[in-house]
Amino acid sequence: MRYDAIIIGGSYAGLSAAMQLARAGRAICVVDSNTPRNRFAAASHGFFGQDGAAPRAMIAQAREKLLAYPNVHFVGGSAQYANPEPDGFSVDLGMGETLRGSKLVLAFGVIDDLPEIPGLAQKWGKSVLHCPYCHGYEFKGQRLGVLNAMEKSVHQALMIPDWGPTTFFLNGGAMPDEETLEKLARREVSMEPAKIAALEGTETELTGVRFEDGRVVALDALFTASRTRMASPIAEQLGCAFDDGMLGPVLRTDAMKMTTVPGVYAAGDIARGMHNATFASADGVMAGTGLHQALIFEPLAA
Ligand SMILES: Cc1cc2nc3c(=O)[nH]c(=O)nc-3n(C[C@H](O)[C@H](O)[C@H](O)COP(=O)(O)OP(=O)(O)OC[C@H]3O[C@@H](n4cnc5c(N)ncnc54)[C@H](O)[C@@H]3O)c2cc1C
Repeated sequence: MRYDAIIIGGSYAGLSAAMQLARAGRAICVVDSNTPRNRFAAASHGFFGQDGAAPRAMIAQAREKLLAYPNVHFVGGSAQYANPEPDGFSVDLGMGETLRGSKLVLAFGVIDDLPEIPGLAQKWGKSVLHCPYCHGYEFKGQRLGVLNAMEKSVHQALMIPDWGPTTFFLNGGAMPDEETLEKLARREVSMEPAKIAALEGTETELTGVRFEDGRVVALDALFTASRTRMASPIAEQLGCAFDDGMLGPVLRTDAMKMTTVPGVYAAGDIARGMHNATFASADGVMAGTGLHQALIFEPLAA
């Protein structure tokens, strides 16, 4: 069977793109390996009508609604390669299985490369957090920290006092300049310059930060930025252009979320600098409608 569109990644972005195409009656196939980026958190926050829902349950519900459309096919698994063909694209699923379609939506998300501090990775999404809008409210008024992980960390340190008393952990990094120190002081952020040895607590719960000099500071939640990278090499294989984002590479797209390769659309964390489920879903809607209109208007212009 030949599809109008193949969607690689079936989470917030991919399923949102798929829904627009499904409702336009187009034949689509969604391929998904079921590892949404926020799977480490027990609850997702801030998404319209779904605040507090478990990430995988939320996605399963969206998938179920999508699969009620008879023109939608779903493949569980991982797409390995995508190749341009004279009349569209082929997507190799491995084991000799190949899908063919006119256009592609890339929505395979990013992977977080976390700071290498013992005890940190296990607490990711539970008490080590990337975003105060997503998980700050649950720790409101508690002892909060920000890890100096990149240049932008100071921006996070200036924000977090809205959620609770904040310490900025320089972790052996350079002391900020006078102007920044003055801003941190105005926001009543405490500074801890020492190098961190490990995070203390249970597997998922943070109780404190232990320094190389042996001291321990009590803490309930630590915010940190991660470096991000593409979860799949497929965009690179296709020759799509990237830009440097704040956290990692970002796929360059136009206003309708088409990449620099005609017929290949991209949505979600891979195609924007600021990440959350709502933005990813909105991008997916844009990609789905843009792709659908290209299916109509490109042949008319030929
Ligand atoms: C710990 C944590 C907690 C978060 N909490 C929140 C929150 O509370 N609220 C909020 O709004 N945002 C939250 N976010 C951000 C949110 O998770 C992302 O912005 C969102 O998941 C991006 O959606 P996406 O569809 O672009 O990618 P993802 O949700 O990451 O989905 C990508 C999908 O593509 C699949 N995939 C990857 N490669 C392939 C392949 N080759 N073939 C087939 N499928 C593939 C994956 O398995 C996955 O299912 C959180 C992020 C983190 C890290």
